[in-house]
Amino acid sequence: MTDNSATKVALISGGSRGIGRATALRLARDGFHVGFCYQSNEQAAKELAQEIAELGVKAQAVRADVSDGDSVRRFVAETENELGPIDVAVTSAGITKDNALLMMPDADWHQVIDVNLSGVFNVCRSVIFEMMKRKSGSIVNISSVAGVYGNATQTNYAASKAGIIGFSRSLAKEVGRYGIRANVVAPGFIETDMTADLSEKVKKQAMQSIPLRRLGRAEEVADLVSYLSSDRASYITGAVLQIDGGIII
Ligand code: NAP
Repeated sequence: MTDNSATKVALISGGSRGIGRATALRLARDGFHVGFCYQSNEQAAKELAQEIAELGVKAQAVRADVSDGDSVRRFVAETENELGPIDVAVTSAGITKDNALLMMPDADWHQVIDVNLSGVFNVCRSVIFEMMKRKSGSIVNISSVAGVYGNATQTNYAASKAGIIGFSRSLAKEVGRYGIRANVVAPGFIETDMTADLSEKVKKQAMQSIPLRRLGRAEEVADLVSYLSSDRASYITGAVLQIDGGIII
């Protein structure tokens, strides 16, 4: 256990799989009760809730669509009712709909922005009032190196992820006086379902540009989120921390 007491509560969007899942388990090991949302994969959510409970803290899984403000407000309210006031919020829900700009359907542009960027807005706005009242809180929003440097065929995704950085830095300036920190984690290539469909050729090419010569693991990202969520990072806010094996040096 770290410096976080067992009475603290973490809320994670997109907690059922990938980076969100690893973060949920890591924060549970840190002693947090964990409320998380998922969109459709109920089986994965149930299994995770069970795994968290086995670690000796409470778990709450809620089906919610982060792109829908009402749905997120319900998720946050149910989590607070069940687990208590939220100390840490992590936004990991995200999707890709890659295409060359010339070929990109309107719907794919809007869906990626709605889930990845408006989803962060919906979660942060829903938790911020209680954090302000309690004069404490930590928010960690998951962006991407694509949002920092751009990536061909990802204009929609990179725009959403760059938006998260501007959003989070603004929020950090806005709520720092209330003792609330807001930081960004920008991963490179991480082994999850999101990258599972990439062709071997693309993975091989990526590997060539990664000095550490491997993809990252969700648990490695979760470790960084755990650090930013904890009092060990008490003087860090508005930061954008890359975790990418050195892909962009
Ligand atoms: P993943 O394995 O595909 O998992 C995505 C998670 O988000 C799932 O739990 C999914 O729920 C949830 N989700 C998707 N759309 C949602 C919605 N509209 N409302 C609520 N939940 C929703 O993805 P990942 O690789 O862990 O990625 C997590 C975050 O890291 C994303 O923001 C992604 O952009 C970012 N990231 C990932 C990488 C990478 O290489 N993997 C790199 C940089 C940044 P269901 O299980 O119900 O579908």
